[in-house]
Amino acid sequence: MNIHRIYLYKMIMRTLILTLALFGTAFGAKVTGVRLPDGQKTNLKTFEFDGDYFISSSSLAEFLGGTETIDFFSKTGKIDFGDYSIEYMLFSPFLKSGETILNIYKPVGYMDGAYLLPIEYLVQALNQVSPDEFDWDGSTLTVSPPTFNVTGISASQKLNGLLLEIYLKEELRFDAIKTNDSWLYLTISEGKVDSLAFTRKLPIPAVYEIKTYQFDRSTQISIRLRPRDFTFTAKLRTNPLRIQVLVRGEGFLDSSMAGEEPPVRDDFDQNTIDVIVIDPGHGGEDDGAVGPDGVREKDVVLEIGRRLFEYLNNDSGFKPVMTRQDDLFIPLSDRTALANSVGGDMFVSIHANASSNEKARGAIAFFLADAKTDQARAAATLENSSIRFEKIENQKQYLTDLDFTLRDMIQTEFQRESADLADIIQEKMDKGTKVKSRGVDQAGFFVLDKAYMPAVLVETAFISNSKDEELLKESEFQDKAAKAIYESIAAFKEKYESQRKSSE
Ligand SMILES: [Zn+2]
Repeated sequence: MNIHRIYLYKMIMRTLILTLALFGTAFGAKVTGVRLPDGQKTNLKTFEFDGDYFISSSSLAEFLGGTETIDFFSKTGKIDFGDYSIEYMLFSPFLKSGETILNIYKPVGYMDGAYLLPIEYLVQALNQVSPDEFDWDGSTLTVSPPTFNVTGISASQKLNGLLLEIYLKEELRFDAIKTNDSWLYLTISEGKVDSLAFTRKLPIPAVYEIKTYQFDRSTQISIRLRPRDFTFTAKLRTNPLRIQVLVRGEGFLDSSMAGEEPPVRDDFDQNTIDVIVIDPGHGGEDDGAVGPDGVREKDVVLEIGRRLFEYLNNDSGFKPVMTRQDDLFIPLSDRTALANSVGGDMFVSIHANASSNEKARGAIAFFLADAKTDQARAAATLENSSIRFEKIENQKQYLTDLDFTLRDMIQTEFQRESADLADIIQEKMDKGTKVKSRGVDQAGFFVLDKAYMPAVLVETAFISNSKDEELLKESEFQDKAAKAIYESIAAFKEKYESQRKSSE
């Protein structure tokens, strides 16, 4: 608690200093706003402080072509532009856009009836919420229309099934998965979706509904199909460039099912714990930790994740969803964004630990909170280092700020349940596998920080230890670890579902 008070105090002091310093400084750092493609220019009301540029919220609203509403009583403001909005609060380093919380890393200031927002981080936040592209080069703020690379969808009934085609402007990597309640999820890495092109209803009765989600560095297309049982294959095709998904199943050969209602997705049923998001850590260019014998974390955790998916999928009580099914890099924040978008009830991130002490062995289940020990802090630093693959230059320096802020804002609500889940997992890992449990610990993991659900990170074993490394690559261990996690999830479900239902 103390640390937060100190942080808050520091933040307020800094903002006061910042505001006081302004009395001597007129607005007037020369910053131009440019709107593309027409190139229309605006002089933006900004100022420079301590090397950072801040923009007045009213000037920003004008530039965005939006309207600003300020509430001086609660010291908050909101800009509505197009279908989007951002909300801010004096002294807070966070913005809100709809249900999304965005870190702008510097507290919002105030001067001359306007709130002041740090341009550099604001631009990153705007790029996350708006399809338009914002750019800041240190003197010019540019907004350009979106350049989409996921441009449309078509569906056609074939003799052997249903053919879905998602058109691309460039070659992109993707993952396709199905849930057992008739949703097909397509995650396209680096995709920018023209969501309007996906709103048109397709004249094919087997396709019931299509939703698109734009994440920071990926696009998700969710397609709800009428028949529940189906299999599919997905491939990248050229000429034109597209992802071709062939869906096979009895229901897809029959065109007489137009009136049939598909099963309803119950992600808003707070009392049911069924949508389990499995997050195999790392992937793609991010190998994670590598063992002395060359075993890569990203490979073994994907294998454990796949097996966990199988266990959950064979249990009618669960609807598992994976954040990645292949050797694909997905940014940390997109993983929780995906978990939230599918209405996840639980988020389980699977990893393998590493230590400079090659003797260190065993499993640890973590939940999100302040790190209590140096070892816990080391594990968090290691896992958070995935961020370096996200190619946003400033992200590295965020990590220290993150230590103070993001984590307790969002996860507190679920902390007790997360801690309990972690406890169940460590116990079952201890009993069900050959690795000794090192218990439950808490630390600041970026990948857990925006999950609006109980969330844990499981370090299944130490890949840096040659005995643990040997185990990690064994099929038997992978299966036992997956089973132990599955049983933990089932035990958690049993405990909390009845509690939630009785407190209704
Ligand atoms: Zn990891």
